[in-house]
Amino acid sequence: MNLGMSLSTFWPQLPTFAGRFGLDWQAEQQRMQERAHQQQQNREWLIRIVGSQRQGRTCLPVCLGLQPADFAWLTSNVLPMYGRYQPLKPGRLAQVQQQSGEDLRQQLLEMREDEWLEIRNLLRRFRRGMDDLELVLADVLAAGCLGGDHLWRDLGLADRGQLSELMRTNFPDLFERNNANMKWKKFFYKQLCEEGGGYVCRAPSCQECTAYRDCFGPEA
Ligand code: SF4
Repeated sequence: MNLGMSLSTFWPQLPTFAGRFGLDWQAEQQRMQERAHQQQQNREWLIRIVGSQRQGRTCLPVCLGLQPADFAWLTSNVLPMYGRYQPLKPGRLAQVQQQSGEDLRQQLLEMREDEWLEIRNLLRRFRRGMDDLELVLADVLAAGCLGGDHLWRDLGLADRGQLSELMRTNFPDLFERNNANMKWKKFFYKQLCEEGGGYVCRAPSCQECTAYRDCFGPEA
């Protein structure tokens, strides 16, 4: 059978088939395009974060807050090759495990693991569900929250706008919830406070809180 001819014959019929199964073909096409765009953006953001970490411009541990096996998978199979999946090179995982074990920032993260987990789980609950890298980003953002600077800086991103775009793309409902344009790290902790975590809020409402200026306003 000539596969090329079969596909070219079949392709125009796809909307009809889709309609028969109750699928909105145009909406499905748009979803596929959005997904491809999201996947590409996530790879670009993660390449930037890895590069910044290696240049010492982040607060992140060597594995960005990921398990060594996940970091080895990310850097070996996803980021450099844009979608070509290959087995890990021999020795790569052992190398990453050793680097992580010796990393002081990783040890500090483990000392605050409960806090990291709460932020990570908050982000996971609000993930868009279109790209597995949302899970990776939830881990990395949570690790970035343990730093002392603005979150976008501690992640090595270009500016707050880039972090907001990352949030809009991967955690859209959480992005919408931050309708007062609160600083992202403070916003995450406030969500945890509202859930009973009690991390930052020293007042019943923002309007009567002495820390207001720390939580809102520009992040230069
Ligand atoms: S301004 Fe005060 S109450 Fe509002 S989020 Fe910040 S610490 Fe919490």
